[in-house]
Amino acid sequence: MLDAAQKGGYAYPAINITSLTTISGALKAFAEAGSDGIIQVSTGGGSFASGTAVGDEAFGAIVLAEATHLLAEKYDILVALHTDHCHPAKVDSFLKPLLQASRERIAAGKGPLFQSHMFDGSVVELDENLTISKELLAECAELNIILEIEAGCVGGEEDGHDTSGLPAEKLYTSTEDMVEVYESLHSIGRFMFAATFGNVHGAYKPGSVKLKPTILRDGQNAVIEKYGADAEMDLVFHGGSGSDLDDIRETLGYGVVKMNIDTDTQYAFTRPIVTHMCENIEGVLKIDGEVGNKKVYDPRGYLKKGEQGLCDRLKEACDDLLSTGKSIFGTV
Ligand SMILES: [Zn+2]
Repeated sequence: MLDAAQKGGYAYPAINITSLTTISGALKAFAEAGSDGIIQVSTGGGSFASGTAVGDEAFGAIVLAEATHLLAEKYDILVALHTDHCHPAKVDSFLKPLLQASRERIAAGKGPLFQSHMFDGSVVELDENLTISKELLAECAELNIILEIEAGCVGGEEDGHDTSGLPAEKLYTSTEDMVEVYESLHSIGRFMFAATFGNVHGAYKPGSVKLKPTILRDGQNAVIEKYGADAEMDLVFHGGSGSDLDDIRETLGYGVVKMNIDTDTQYAFTRPIVTHMCENIEGVLKIDGEVGNKKVYDPRGYLKKGEQGLCDRLKEACDDLLSTGKSIFGTV
């Protein structure tokens, strides 16, 4: 999938899912768009999916991944499973059990549980970040799993991790750091690289986020000049929600193959549910001794609308990233 995207000048939307309903919305969108795609789980998403009484991030991620493996068999597109930001403090409790689950699946003759994982060492110095990344990439490569790493820092707040107080220069990965990441990792295994170019998590009013996609171009060019065209890295665009189409398209020319989208699809899921509640307020509530209307308070009724809202927004992302109609399902 990464090779096809690199060669074809497009990228995959990587959508965060947290439930069967959001998985189905994502699969429906990719299938209707004729696009392959990436379905990803955050630590918070895993915790939620394990049940509020259990609250086990790794266990919930396994449940979501196994469900996706089964559900995806009904669609003629390829879906890669990925885990989102894992900070150093969560490697042992989140990444390691997931790698172990893949090891067990492989021993049983299946493929890995996830096709890729992210290690986010942006909270520590680059040296330490790369030391941990090298160890994890070696472990992933053995299992035929790709590792996404981050240098620089994505702004904003996600899953309770807030970087909004950081100095502005931390939001832009330097060319030197991009070269250093390549030199440290390329001989160990396939990796994706979330280099940061002013991108932030969350939704902001137009004009308040200044993206500098040329950061990616400069770093990529420095690597290619030194090591040749085959050295082109697989870059990841975090915080895709609310981004201008021009910025998105520009990054595709610099080797972005994956764009994360969460905030916009969260809103797209919730928006039609709000309409449903407002339009059916006397049915979803039992007012003044009345009994309400089971037809409108059955959660399936409004969750279906949420699923469709998410699906519609994700199809837009496929169009933005030029992955629509490019599925390689059946050719590999
Ligand atoms: Zn992110």
